[in-house]
Amino acid sequence: MKARIIEVFDTVQGEGIYFGEKQIFVRFFGCNLSCRFCDTPSNRFTEYEPQELFNEINLYKNDFHSISFTGGEPLLQKDFLKEILKLSSAGGYRNYLETNGTLAGELKEVIDYLDIIAMDLKLPSSIGMASHLWGMHRKFLEVASKKEVFIKVVICHSTKEKDLREALKLIKEVNHSAILVLQPNSHEDDAWLRVRIGVFADMAQEENITACVIPQMHKAIGLE
Ligand code: SF4
Repeated sequence: MKARIIEVFDTVQGEGIYFGEKQIFVRFFGCNLSCRFCDTPSNRFTEYEPQELFNEINLYKNDFHSISFTGGEPLLQKDFLKEILKLSSAGGYRNYLETNGTLAGELKEVIDYLDIIAMDLKLPSSIGMASHLWGMHRKFLEVASKKEVFIKVVICHSTKEKDLREALKLIKEVNHSAILVLQPNSHEDDAWLRVRIGVFADMAQEENITACVIPQMHKAIGLE
């Protein structure tokens, strides 16, 4: 069984509540969405067997917090993902999944081997897609809530208040204790957007949802 992997590398986590933790990143090729701000490469990959990938991970000095399986969307290659997660767990590593939060059935098949789930909630007015994904996100969060999960939403100039309200309703109904990360779109991060994010953070507080504003560190310091 082989998977298409864009790259394997080590760096510090630049997003979400594990911001600053050292991780090994395994970036999977391919995605089922097409967000307007996506910058994941879509024209190159290397094929790996699970054991081959695990051997490469083992070449890194074991001083990292966890292995981040990211993408693209790692759950699109769930059979391979399950195998590498099993190897990683058996090797004593912590498994961290970064996902667009839409493939609940696939998540169910691998969740036993995950430690932390960083789930995106795609607001229609942020990602520029006509169809919304609320039903898929709801099912996903129901499954993900068996493990530690936090939720990221990207806030753009185009983000509408009604979308954030819908996201808060979903979190409140499915997993009220999940932390919500408000992430300014790094291409549009200006004074106006910061004011908007302040308004959104207040909305979360009114619903008793823990929210924090965390920018994408790698872009802020010019690492990508
Ligand atoms: S979910 Fe992530 S990888 Fe997929 S299109 Fe959106 S930004 Fe790109």
